[in-house]
Amino acid sequence: MPDPSRIRFEVETRLPTVHGGFRVRAYTDTTTGDLHLAIISGEPRPGALVRLHSECLTGEAFGSLKCECGPQLDAALDVIAEHGGVVMYLRGHEGRGIGLLNKLRAYRLQEDGLDTVDANLALGLPADAREYAAAASALADLGLDRVRLLTNNPAKSESLEANGIEVLERVPLEVGFNEVNEGYMRTKAARMGHLLDAFGPAGDVAEPGEAAGTDPA
Ligand SMILES: [Zn+2]
Repeated sequence: MPDPSRIRFEVETRLPTVHGGFRVRAYTDTTTGDLHLAIISGEPRPGALVRLHSECLTGEAFGSLKCECGPQLDAALDVIAEHGGVVMYLRGHEGRGIGLLNKLRAYRLQEDGLDTVDANLALGLPADAREYAAAASALADLGLDRVRLLTNNPAKSESLEANGIEVLERVPLEVGFNEVNEGYMRTKAARMGHLLDAFGPAGDVAEPGEAAGTDPA
């Protein structure tokens, strides 16, 4: 079961956006001190669409082409605005949990040819330091003990399940591919277990326009 003491509810308020109207509920992570935001559309019931989104300043605020976080967040907000659900925006997850400065250091190493995994390891850091116990607790607070998860990353489903949230279905979110992040996406598929139709085991690369959409049906 999710641990209710892992989070502390702080405030709920309305947030109109270009994607649609949402409610935002803020939760302090009592272990890390980070403030996570549940961005809610409609009245989510068990089985609702959920995106666990790791914050990414460079991708979301600056439109960085090195990752696909910005397009994924936009697409997730569009999908839940239309179908109802929750985007759980997780702070402290910059650079898969290594922080903004270390992410920039890893980018610097990537300029010398290291891929995203080896750059983290070269810095003495894990390839992925994220965990989702607080997200599970916040979902439980919303009454969502069962979800349909918008993700390409099976590790997120497994982590939610390990923390007491049932994942009924994985809904792909394949957006944001470009010529800059092709190597990054290929590494995520080859070395981090991400399920990406455009970067399958055979190494085939689809045109960005051929990438799967976000149809949650
Ligand atoms: Zn990113």
